[in-house]
Amino acid sequence: MYRVKEIFYTLQGEGAHQGRPAVFCRFSKCNLWTGREKDRAGAVCNFCDTDFVGVDGQNGGKFATAEELAERILSFWPQEEGERFVVCTGGEPLLQLDEPLIEAFHAKGFEVAVETNGTLPTPAGIDWLCVSPKGRADVVIKECDELKLVYPQPEAPPERFDDIRAGRYYLSPMANPLAQEGEDERKIHNTKLAMDFCMRHPKWRLSVQLHKILGID
Ligand code: SF4
Repeated sequence: MYRVKEIFYTLQGEGAHQGRPAVFCRFSKCNLWTGREKDRAGAVCNFCDTDFVGVDGQNGGKFATAEELAERILSFWPQEEGERFVVCTGGEPLLQLDEPLIEAFHAKGFEVAVETNGTLPTPAGIDWLCVSPKGRADVVIKECDELKLVYPQPEAPPERFDDIRAGRYYLSPMANPLAQEGEDERKIHNTKLAMDFCMRHPKWRLSVQLHKILGID
């Protein structure tokens, strides 16, 4: 049984595949926060801006088999066009994504990307792995295609991840999910901090969230 919060077809907004059409499969649940506001302050990851609780989002639901979920994902891809691309996200997708589901996606012609907090081992067969470390959580994945760090995080400075080998390294400026007034100012401030860090450490690149700039999320 796979529990999925929502499924939607859009453009990937971040990282190396920015601008690429993709079906997003947002799995329910995360191992670093319950998703309930009352638990946020004590959570390992406390700046999350994503609703991953339950299965009641757009096109969400429970899928009894890998084939059933893969078939549903395929229904969002436009006809026969282009290279099929599914982005497994969450919540934490590696709580549920397994080899049978990856094989089912491949059988439908999909390239499979995963966006994970890096705290869980990966099943075989993932085509594009993006690791995004959060807070003090230990990262067990030491090799990936893309390391995307929300910045700044007091407990997760970039130097902490020097042992991770990635094809690309991105800093993504943090927004405060609880801030109302001053939200834009904070994001701009954090963007400047991230820009400054990248300029001083050119291994890192700035990643901006295209979907938020365009207002399509
Ligand atoms: S690890 Fe990701 S999904 Fe989980 S609480 Fe943090 S930002 Fe949200």
